[in-house]
Amino acid sequence: MLETTLVLVKPDGVQRGLVGEIISRFEKIGMKITGMKMFWVDKDFAKKHYSAHVGKSFYSGLEKNITEGPVVAMAIEGLHAVEIVRKIVGGTEPRTSPPGTIRGDYSHHSYEYCNSKGIGIKNLIHASGNIAEAKSEIKLWFKKDELHSYKTVHEIHTM
Ligand code: UDP
Ligand code: MG
Repeated sequence: MLETTLVLVKPDGVQRGLVGEIISRFEKIGMKITGMKMFWVDKDFAKKHYSAHVGKSFYSGLEKNITEGPVVAMAIEGLHAVEIVRKIVGGTEPRTSPPGTIRGDYSHHSYEYCNSKGIGIKNLIHASGNIAEAKSEIKLWFKKDELHSYKTVHEIHTM
C-alpha cells in the first residue's frame, strides 16, 4: 500500500502564491515529498501528460492553462497516497468540491478557459487519479535520480 503519486501545482496555483499552502497540506497529514521541481510545460509535454484528454471539448482550455506558466511538480509518498491525496485535493469542479479540500477552498470557475458549455475552471492542482496513472505519471515527470529515499523525523524516532 506504500504508493507514490504525482501532484502538480498548476500555473494558476503558482501565480496565486499557493505553493506553500498546498505543500503544507500534504506535509501535515504525514505524506513524504520524495521529488520536487519547477517546470514550464510546453504543448508537446502537455499532450503527453494529458493524453487521455486530447481531443475533448475542454482540451484547448486545459492546454492553455497548463502551459501558461511554470508548475511545481511533486512526487508524494505515503500509505494509500493516491487515494488520500485525491481526497485532500477535492473534485474536478470548483462548485462541487467540498470546503476543506484544496480545490473546495481555493479554486474557482473562469471564463478564461471556456469549454463547450461556456465556462472553464481554474482548479489549481493536479493529482494522479489512480494507481496506474500515478505510476505512469511519476515515470513521465521524474528521472530515477530525481526521486529520493529518506526517513522523516517520525520514522527515525520510531525505530
Ligand atoms: N477540465 C476542464 N473542464 C472539464 C473537465 C476537465 O477544464 O470539463 C480540466 C481541469 O483543469 C481538470 C483537467 O482538465 O483538472 C483534467 O481533467 P480530469 O477529468 O482528469 O480531472 P482531475 O483529475 O484533474 O480532477
Ligand atoms: Mg485526472
